[in-house]
Amino acid sequence: MTQAEATSRPGKRVLLAKPRGYCAGVDRAVQTVEEALKLYGAPIYVRKQIVHNKHVVQTLESQGAIFVEENEEVPEGATVIFSAHGVAPEVYEQARQRSLRAIDATCPLVTKVHQEAKRFAAEDYDILLIGHEGHEEVIGTAGEAPAHIQLVDGPDGVDKVTVRDPEKVVWLSQTTLSVDETLETVARLKQRLPLLQSPPSDDICYATSNRQHVVKEIAPDCDVVIVVGSRNSSNSVRLVEVAVDAGARAGYLVDFAHEIDDAWLADARTVGVTSGASVPEELVRDVLTHLAARGFGDVEEILTANERLTFSLPQELKRDMKAAAARG
Ligand code: SF4
Repeated sequence: MTQAEATSRPGKRVLLAKPRGYCAGVDRAVQTVEEALKLYGAPIYVRKQIVHNKHVVQTLESQGAIFVEENEEVPEGATVIFSAHGVAPEVYEQARQRSLRAIDATCPLVTKVHQEAKRFAAEDYDILLIGHEGHEEVIGTAGEAPAHIQLVDGPDGVDKVTVRDPEKVVWLSQTTLSVDETLETVARLKQRLPLLQSPPSDDICYATSNRQHVVKEIAPDCDVVIVVGSRNSSNSVRLVEVAVDAGARAGYLVDFAHEIDDAWLADARTVGVTSGASVPEELVRDVLTHLAARGFGDVEEILTANERLTFSLPQELKRDMKAAAARG
């Protein structure tokens, strides 16, 4: 559409979701890499993408971080950071064998699920881990107790479940799932296993639930919802699904503003905007600027929750930072 057409359409607006973007676990993981680069100097190796966002990874690479898939790619004795998604115990052991200085940036809310898995496995439960096959977080959690954990990949995975004792089964989940789909999966599991136990507290994290909740609020009023996030970001992909399920005519995932196709906006009056938990706010600002240039300069922020949670940096990094400060 031309600029004149864009600006001439009356009543065009943006509903901007809040909370959106960085969660406490992502903020901590990104800061961990930044502080490690300052403290130890480049290069710093990071096993897997520290968080699932293209821009964040590219920015850290430009500062001296080297992203690898496995510990074997890290030179012996070098520093390696484990990503926010968590790792299986064998990954710590590999790092120890290669004399790597390992810093664990696993989100504490993922660690909580690992602890639950270990505890239920120690009590000899069958654990049904609801999550997406192949996702790093699921691989890490399942690695805590492979003999006790089986993956349930959504409602369609329920029929494949087999357990040893239907009275001793618990479900846990990946932290970044769709809240509604997980409820559906659990309901189906409970039809087959009425004595199925629930996790001691929600495994889907506060950031995932809050971002889905606000999208549900705005979606019925939106012609289009644009979610800023990367394709490998589970929580970002879920936001698109939630938006469409909640009534948006269409939902799109973009890493960057320039990926927005003018055709998506052609008949739109109201555009919703949000971002996944691994997305820096500057990328959302770019999207708002892009939309404003197409006549969507009227922005209303819709707030459904205040988030104040923060996590401190990993102990091993804090200890070295303290020692460096003491040395002056
Ligand atoms: S999305 Fe949730 S579990 Fe994942 S890093 Fe953020 S707070 Fe932690």
